[in-house]
Amino acid sequence: MSKDKKVMNELKSLIYTQLSKKYNKCLWPKSDCTKDCINAHSIQNSQILDQLASNNHVFMAVAKQNLNTEREIEFKKVGRNKATTFTGLCREHDSQLFRPIDVNKFDSSNEEQKFLIAYRSVLRELHTRIKAARDLQTICQKSVELGKCDPNNLEDPIMLRATLALANAYDLYKYKYVYDKLYNSNSFTKIEHKCIRIERNCPLAVSSLFDPIKSIIVEKRPEPKFIVINVFPQKKDTIILLSYLKDHQKDLRPYANEIINATGEDRLYLLSKTILRYCENFVISLEHFNRFSEAKKDAIKKFYLATVTQIDLDQDDENLMLF
Ligand SMILES: [Zn+2]
Repeated sequence: MSKDKKVMNELKSLIYTQLSKKYNKCLWPKSDCTKDCINAHSIQNSQILDQLASNNHVFMAVAKQNLNTEREIEFKKVGRNKATTFTGLCREHDSQLFRPIDVNKFDSSNEEQKFLIAYRSVLRELHTRIKAARDLQTICQKSVELGKCDPNNLEDPIMLRATLALANAYDLYKYKYVYDKLYNSNSFTKIEHKCIRIERNCPLAVSSLFDPIKSIIVEKRPEPKFIVINVFPQKKDTIILLSYLKDHQKDLRPYANEIINATGEDRLYLLSKTILRYCENFVISLEHFNRFSEAKKDAIKKFYLATVTQIDLDQDDENLMLF
């Protein structure tokens, strides 16, 4: 084996090992907690996943861990106790934080419930971003050691990815801090929510957030302004919940209204494209996904992948309808 191949194999093996390592840190907002974390559900388990799972499984978009080929994703069957979970809360604090939404039925007039649903999405996203930053830093360091990355060149693709991952994690760290303060002072009404109920079966669930502005002005790196998006079934209806800080309402309301004020199939189509463009934390019921034609599955995968690098890519294709 050539020396270069040996070096690449060493690096690849480190990457696989690093990505499979858990990031275990309780994100409880009231004090520093060092207890072991559980697989906390970001999408409610007993009410929501229960409605979507068949034989305890759902479909999720999962990136294929193959470093030899181009980036690929597949929709994979995932057990409901693994799907959308994150190791960002200990048992005690997960239950203490989210009891009001875990034991009660969703009530769209309850400010605390809506706040907690959005807060859970923020915590999961922060956990994901910190893990990505940690992993990329480690990979970057090893690449420098092996002579595969130039630490003095910020344009080096590995350096660039590691730096961006850190910046993304820091953005969300600051954002989560705002939610922490609101939680600690019971200031639930500082968040504006747009919530609608559609009388239609919901075949999927989402818990995520996105910054629709940053995607347009990338070079200026403004303060991130996020819309937290949750979509889930409640019995025979679909609930859409969009949440953002009241301080950001002037900038974000038009984006939220675009979805909320659309009607009928248009609204669900717009929502589908938003989910595929910005979110990775969503699940689809097996029954529903299996009814999709191969062409439809293909179009969904292609759009999902293409928008990872071209966030503004717009194309109209009825196959992108997820409902
Ligand atoms: Zn804890």
